[in-house]
Amino acid sequence: MVAQSTIDNDDVERVLLRKSIAGTVAPFGGTYFREHAASGEPTHELWAAVVKGGFTSVNLPEEFGGGGAGLSELAVVCEEIATGGAPLLLMVVHSAICGPVIAEYGTAEQRAEWLPRWTEPDFRMCFAITEPDAGSNSHNLSLRAVQQPDGDWVLNGSKIYISGVDESQAMLVVAKIGTDERTGKGQLALFIVDTDAAGLGKSHIPTEIVLPEKQFLLSFDDVRVPASRLVGNPGDGLKQIFHGLNPERITGAALCNGISRHVLDKAVRYANERVVWKVPIGSHQGVAHPLAESKIQLELARLMTYRAAELYDGRGDAGEAANMAKFAAADAAMKCVDQAIQTHGGNGLATEYGIAHLWGLARLIKVAPVSREMILNHIAQHSLGLPKSY
Ligand SMILES: Cc1cc2nc3c(=O)[nH]c(=O)nc-3n(C[C@H](O)[C@H](O)[C@H](O)COP(=O)(O)OP(=O)(O)OC[C@H]3O[C@@H](n4cnc5c(N)ncnc54)[C@H](O)[C@@H]3O)c2cc1C
Repeated sequence: MVAQSTIDNDDVERVLLRKSIAGTVAPFGGTYFREHAASGEPTHELWAAVVKGGFTSVNLPEEFGGGGAGLSELAVVCEEIATGGAPLLLMVVHSAICGPVIAEYGTAEQRAEWLPRWTEPDFRMCFAITEPDAGSNSHNLSLRAVQQPDGDWVLNGSKIYISGVDESQAMLVVAKIGTDERTGKGQLALFIVDTDAAGLGKSHIPTEIVLPEKQFLLSFDDVRVPASRLVGNPGDGLKQIFHGLNPERITGAALCNGISRHVLDKAVRYANERVVWKVPIGSHQGVAHPLAESKIQLELARLMTYRAAELYDGRGDAGEAANMAKFAAADAAMKCVDQAIQTHGGNGLATEYGIAHLWGLARLIKVAPVSREMILNHIAQHSLGLPKSY
């Protein structure tokens, strides 16, 4: 076991929260996750246990059955679940985007109808923003929502790489409702759409990532959405989504940090036990130093992740820190997974040792939910004041 970090600033409640999550995940763990990921089976039992513990709704208002805590606690949840070897990608949208956006911008009726569902063991809401032709440019979204004379909306267009549609009952969809004449940018709005809505086509996109959650290409062909499903102000969609996008980056970072802890723990145990030249391999600095470097990168990423979450919880501007946290955590996870494989030698690639399958998820977080290049653009422009290139 990696020695407890002296850096953590956890109070008693947070220590208990970490223990409670670890206890919930332990009966499942890495083998359960890997087997489900390899067979493409959803992790229903783990999800239900995590919901029962109140963890997927820890950051939602108490009056709707949530935990009344903040994003910092949700980051702890995502980190600890992944530390237990079972990272839940869907939580990064279900708990970090969809719930908080409805809590913040939903009508009283929407909050009362939807938020209690976060306590149902089989309820999930996925999130759809990415489009085949818009890429990282959210201003260029073209999935169109047009309001009908009776107030309902009709959606036409497509979305790509949407995770967990098959497991979810509903989806928060970002759609274009017009164009701002002054800026020429798309006016966006958010809709809650049933995943079995008439006119919604889903085709599975196979990927090389070993993940229980599947990704889908979605086609919206005259999908009718009741007026009651519009969330927040039409036209303010982008601002409203940012209420969820920074948390998505922060919980994505937390998930990476958990992966890093999980594999580093395995690597350290192995380096202490494996003897090839009369001493444990961890005695060789060629093995020990890269693990020490991995630990430093991990703890730096964790510090930035919790700093970003604190800023968000304090209603400060969390954009810069959230981007830096996701960038640092994805790089740290790549290094930790790679070094854990290297420490195990050939065993690092054996299924039995439960490390190599996590590479794909760690690698994904360099690309999604926002790519490292778009983060560098943000930092160059907003933190350093350099000109925008695009
Ligand atoms: C497994 C998986 C799960 C996903 N789940 C979801 C989901 O649940 N919901 C959802 O909405 N989306 C989801 N996505 C989509 C994901 O968020 C996008 O793939 C990601 O944001 C990158 O967008 P893109 O693929 O369109 O890349 P593009 O925008 O086409 O970019 C391609 C490359 O060009 C670079 N690039 C683009 N513009 C610039 C620029 N201005 N400067 C420098 N470099 C640039 C990018 O950094 C990237 O390296 C998922 C993707 C995957 C692979």
